[in-house]
Amino acid sequence: MPPVNLLAIPEPEIKVFRRRLLFWFAGNKRDIPWRRTRDAYRIWLSEIMLQQTRVAAVIPYYERFLEKFPTVQTLSRAKMETVLSRWAGLGYYSRARNLHRAAKVIVAKHDGRFPRDYEDTLALPGIGRYTAAAVLSIAYGQPFAALDGNVARVISRLGAVRGDLRAPALWRKLETTTEDLLDQRAPGDWNQAMMELGATICTPKSPRCEECPVAGWCRARKLGIAGELPATRKKRSTVDVTLAAAVLLDPRGRTLLIRQPGGDGALFSNLWQFPAVETTGGESAAGLADHLSEKLGITLNGNFTPLETARHSVTFRNIRLVPFLIRVARLPRLAGSRVVELSRIETLPISNATRKIANSTV
Ligand code: SF4
Repeated sequence: MPPVNLLAIPEPEIKVFRRRLLFWFAGNKRDIPWRRTRDAYRIWLSEIMLQQTRVAAVIPYYERFLEKFPTVQTLSRAKMETVLSRWAGLGYYSRARNLHRAAKVIVAKHDGRFPRDYEDTLALPGIGRYTAAAVLSIAYGQPFAALDGNVARVISRLGAVRGDLRAPALWRKLETTTEDLLDQRAPGDWNQAMMELGATICTPKSPRCEECPVAGWCRARKLGIAGELPATRKKRSTVDVTLAAAVLLDPRGRTLLIRQPGGDGALFSNLWQFPAVETTGGESAAGLADHLSEKLGITLNGNFTPLETARHSVTFRNIRLVPFLIRVARLPRLAGSRVVELSRIETLPISNATRKIANSTV
């Protein structure tokens, strides 16, 4: 076996190290729905939902999603809009779109079974090296090491590794180390044990070293620098955005929603939303009226009644939502729009921002 290069753990001790961590995991792992299954579809779904999202937030979405789409076949047959509405509220909607596309590929090319081959798995939309390794090891017991931010943090502390962990050269060393550490006999449990240690004990802030099963091998702890590692990355600076939105309301309590096309970089792409436009703070009503008239051909005589403003964040954007209630005798019919009762918009795929605006009307 090659040396575990970033950790400098003597070769004879590696087996003990693995045993300690696996023993700790067996006795301390959290009881989470996707840990009760070996179904690759369910494990894959959980891994996709867990990207950028905490375990506690994912659980209700995971269960609701599986009620509607219990198998990869049911997911592949569903309309994208239905998939998005089950995903609504979880954010990062490209994950749901890729999941849906990948389900179609699995049914068309792999006989409805999640692939066992690493390259076939990587070829699926929305699946990178980490997700492929996690699903194949947990569902099928294949010896692939999963390296994510949690695992990288644990290794950086065990080995007292300084520097930007996401720098390509250092990330490659972390990958090699993760592969060397992998327990070949229990790769799924091993990967989960490393992640669990990072999620519950070796946490980003204030690691609980006194409870750590592998503290005896930890160089950062010995040096007293566990809390300083890994080095914090420079964050992309946030941008403040003001979004003025029009809640048009007809006498029957119905409103107009439009769907914004665009790639994943677009705000709320492919979700139903109130007509809206980015404005400067003091001119929201005027900017919105111009937008409605020039871009959507909606000329309004009614008053713009300001509703309660709200805050919303999307990746690096801090959005101030400035909604207006505009009562109209009749809603316009536009291509790419739909008329729906305001009280029922939750049945459509909408973003949290749209939900916040709707809440400001009650
Ligand atoms: Fe992390 Fe502390 Fe364990 Fe080291 S001893 S791996 S810093 S929890």
